[in-house]
Amino acid sequence: MSAALPAPRIALNDGHRIPQLGFGVFQVSPDEAERIVGEALDAGYRHIDTAMIYGNEEGVGRAIASRDIPRDELFITTKLFRGDHGHNNALRALPASLERLGLDYVDLYLIHWPAPARNAYVDSWRAFEQMRNEGLARSIGVCNFLPEHLARLQSDAETLPAVNQIELHPLFAQRDLRAYQEPLGIVTESWAPLGQGKYVLDELPGIAEIARRHGKSAAQVILGWHLQQGLVVFPKTVRRERMIENADVFDFVLDDAEMAQLARLDSGTRIGAHPRERN
Ligand code: NDP
Repeated sequence: MSAALPAPRIALNDGHRIPQLGFGVFQVSPDEAERIVGEALDAGYRHIDTAMIYGNEEGVGRAIASRDIPRDELFITTKLFRGDHGHNNALRALPASLERLGLDYVDLYLIHWPAPARNAYVDSWRAFEQMRNEGLARSIGVCNFLPEHLARLQSDAETLPAVNQIELHPLFAQRDLRAYQEPLGIVTESWAPLGQGKYVLDELPGIAEIARRHGKSAAQVILGWHLQQGLVVFPKTVRRERMIENADVFDFVLDDAEMAQLARLDSGTRIGAHPRERN
């Protein structure tokens, strides 16, 4: 296990705790997922973020089964595909994901997109509450919800999400959404924390100097920026050396001037879909 792991856990609004640093497997084939999740578990990662639509739940499950790690040390997240919205569909989708993962429960089950044109996410959420009560998911949450979608859960459901997993990186810092959800006790998870490889981290203005000052890489500085703000991250990489690099982020602190400098990179530039448009 790397010296930097296991990661610290932070409290959710339902009493459970989530490792603040995990490992994501978007755009990874099942076989590759089995290899890299196995390597990530060997490196000390305990929090894995997958989704039905990534098509690699079986590979993640095989990696978990191949390592002798107590279940309560692991934190496994998967997500409801937007094509499976609706009460009955959701009640079928989680057991199917569990079967592929080879697990009795997930630690966190998320609505992947609100898909507002389908007008079914409140029904899905009621199924989530039921499955949480039945023990199939320890915690339940959402992804890509805007304030208008969270407000509907506030008015029409019993439970607020434990997390909202949203696109968040230095060029898209999501200040307004965080200011809305964090006072409600909803933890923010950053997807594409490293910009999904869509821009060159070393070329972000000022980053090379901050990285040099701390003896860290640009990626480590950016992950530190997330962690210092209380965000949950699970960077994806297929490379073993980067898994270790991405976990070695708990031994430096960015000062206020450095945090402010990184905050100035926010240009409101989304790299993924807009939640109102993904239906
Ligand atoms: P990330 O921001 O994690 O970026 C991944 C890219 O960064 C890959 O190209 C990877 O390349 C590269 N990379 C990783 N580590 C380093 C490093 N140390 N230095 C330089 N480059 C690096 O993007 P993701 O979209 O994968 O986001 C993370 C996770 O968030 C996903 O895997 C998924 O679990 C989740 N997610 C959720 C979404 C949602 O709608 N809820 C949407 C998108 C993602 P390489 O692999 O070659 O190392």
